[in-house]
Amino acid sequence: MYDLIVVGGGVAGLMAAGTASSSGARRVLLLEKMEKPARKLRITGKGRCNVTNDRSREEFLAKVRQGTEFFKPAFEAFDNRATMRFVGALGVPLVCERGGRLFPASGRAWDVANALVSWAERCGVEIRCHAPVASLMISDDLIRGVILESGEHVSAKAVLLATGGVSYPATGSTGEGHEMAYEAGHRIEPLRPSLVPLEISVPAGLKGLALRNVELSLVVDGEAAERRFGEMEFTADGVMGGAIVLQVSRTAVDAVADGRRVEAVIDLKPALSAEKLRNRIEREISGLGGDAPVKVLLQKLLPPQLRTVIAQEAGLSVSKTLDSLSAADSERLVGALKGWRFPVRDYRPFTEAIVTAGGVDLSEVDPRTMESLKIKGLYFAGELLDIDADTGGYNIQVALSTGYLAGKAVAGGK
Ligand SMILES: Cc1cc2nc3c(=O)[nH]c(=O)nc-3n(C[C@H](O)[C@H](O)[C@H](O)COP(=O)(O)OP(=O)(O)OC[C@H]3O[C@@H](n4cnc5c(N)ncnc54)[C@H](O)[C@@H]3O)c2cc1C
Repeated sequence: MYDLIVVGGGVAGLMAAGTASSSGARRVLLLEKMEKPARKLRITGKGRCNVTNDRSREEFLAKVRQGTEFFKPAFEAFDNRATMRFVGALGVPLVCERGGRLFPASGRAWDVANALVSWAERCGVEIRCHAPVASLMISDDLIRGVILESGEHVSAKAVLLATGGVSYPATGSTGEGHEMAYEAGHRIEPLRPSLVPLEISVPAGLKGLALRNVELSLVVDGEAAERRFGEMEFTADGVMGGAIVLQVSRTAVDAVADGRRVEAVIDLKPALSAEKLRNRIEREISGLGGDAPVKVLLQKLLPPQLRTVIAQEAGLSVSKTLDSLSAADSERLVGALKGWRFPVRDYRPFTEAIVTAGGVDLSEVDPRTMESLKIKGLYFAGELLDIDADTGGYNIQVALSTGYLAGKAVAGGK
């Protein structure tokens, strides 16, 4: 009989198991279905692991897009400062980069993953890999243990589901935890990809084009819904990704799924008002001379891959001479540079989504303990819950904070 069985050896599960074990739970078993724990953590942050973010409490919580109120007690128990101290104490020094994002100084996500696994083991957690859990044992609304896919029954006083979302399923997060929670009587908020590239209708040939210091607006049914400034890229023909695209994707996914009309509008010159851009174009034209073609003006304003596209957008021929540009032509060019619009057709699948929106309904979980309000002794942590946040280290922090609080609560109940 275990005090606690943790299902899923990702960030949340390891944190919960180690915390419970080091806080007084006597026998803690972590069951991970893959060949090693924390596979997803090892690929985070493009292999560098953006482990948390240095922002103030208020700024941090504002980045948690869904489940903010629910998340507060967990964040208060184990916040971003606690993560910095914790990871540092595990022997993984962190460095702070642009936007307050914290990474291991080594630049290796594996260092964070290995340190977390070793810490959990040192805390006394028994880790079993290749051990997929198939279902929960419950009777009289009380958790009794789990049943492995092999048919093995393992008894426990408490079980914590930390099986993650359903994005990047090759890492092991494939949604069995949601099924187990559902069978235990929990409502599951519909799962949608979040922080995901978007499919758009733009001319072909932009693949690989990265844009810096641009402003991306999302327009839903003709109304501005969200606006972000920063970097984005065209990752494939008809697909846009990169930081600011991922940030607006949550809103875009919901709107597309609801069948609403979604447009992306890129301001390629956000630092200049329309008036200042108009003046800049006039200055460029007088410097170049009236015989020069539009093509040469566009060379001054845009990277090569965008010149023809933006000329087409403005209805201009690139061979037209500058002295034949009418005021209306210039106005259309300003319009195309500051408001390049295209429809968002769809979003990419879970295999390309950084996180999963939706999950275990938070109204059925105690935010002070992460315990189910339906089944005594059943706990939840991490991405399995209906909490999701922006890019920037916030999602790993959600997993750490909720895992910590659940681990403490289980140990406190012993
Ligand atoms: C490519 C990528 C990059 C990312 N980069 C960042 C980043 O830099 N910063 C950031 O904050 N967030 C990042 N994220 C998001 C972050 O990785 C997740 O939010 C976080 O890992 C969730 O942790 P978790 O423990 O809840 O779930 P997971 O890490 O998904 O762990 C769940 C574990 O449960 C196991 N499991 C599932 N079902 C069973 C079962 N039936 N039996 C036993 N075990 C089971 C899985 O194998 C898995 O190991 C990234 C995500 C991706 C996909």
